[in-house]
Amino acid sequence: MRWKQGRRSNNIEDLRGSGGPSMAMGGAGVLLRIVPFLLRTKVGRILLLIAVVGYFGAKFLGVDLLQLAAPSASSSGSQQLSPKDQELADFVSVVLADTESTWHLEFKKLGLTYQEPKLVLFRNAVNSACGYAQAAMGPFYCPGDQKLYIDLAFYEDMKNKLGAPGDFAQAYVIAHEVGHHVQTLLGTSAKVRQAQQQASKAQANQLSVKQELQADCYAGIWGYYADTERKMLEQGDIEEALNAAAAIGDDKLQRQAGGAVRPESFTHGSSKQRVEWFKRGFEQGKIEACNTFK
Ligand SMILES: [Zn+2]
Repeated sequence: MRWKQGRRSNNIEDLRGSGGPSMAMGGAGVLLRIVPFLLRTKVGRILLLIAVVGYFGAKFLGVDLLQLAAPSASSSGSQQLSPKDQELADFVSVVLADTESTWHLEFKKLGLTYQEPKLVLFRNAVNSACGYAQAAMGPFYCPGDQKLYIDLAFYEDMKNKLGAPGDFAQAYVIAHEVGHHVQTLLGTSAKVRQAQQQASKAQANQLSVKQELQADCYAGIWGYYADTERKMLEQGDIEEALNAAAAIGDDKLQRQAGGAVRPESFTHGSSKQRVEWFKRGFEQGKIEACNTFK
């Protein structure tokens, strides 16, 4: 991929240098240890009461004090990032910026305004509006805070464990998560969730598969623009993305996990389906190409 000349996004939140949620938890742990001492004296009990009232009062007003405390706690624990890590973050920033350009154009065609998502880089674990997440889960999008979360260590796994190396494969993963953001903005995700509530387990899975395949198709649309408008693609790039789409299909992951392949439990689609929908988005380069629900 020819990405170095690309624009960098303003929407990166880099938490890698921080201790992340474990630091915040450490803070909570210290608080809990202080409580018995405070309870021993009258002044201590009053202080505790003030603290509790203050904490829940702030919470009531919508301010989470533990979260406010986290960034200051984390700055002290910042680590040096290796040049390789820095370059990877730079790359992610360019890809995100490129998806922004793509979706601004596509939304304009629909008479809508695209709202850019944030992308959080983290290490090991992170607190999101969707709960506590560990890197082992792979990158994900949280509709609650409209942020993408990625631990760059996942890219090592893609290369070493999933057999999907290459920068375009890495970009595809981001473009897929951005696809979920697009579905959230367009109301697709809400409709799917609603339909799933009245559906059987198998039907709900099917809806999930359709939603995932559509995100793959949207990733393909990004690929189309990256290629035609910005000439970022080099030989072999598309193969990389298709290989990645195939490598992280549910059937393949299930097989790798040592189980038999059970199509009704697929929530992302088979490798073949993922490749097909990515290609469709890439070849047609428009949102109409991606109706996986019909
Ligand atoms: Zn997905």
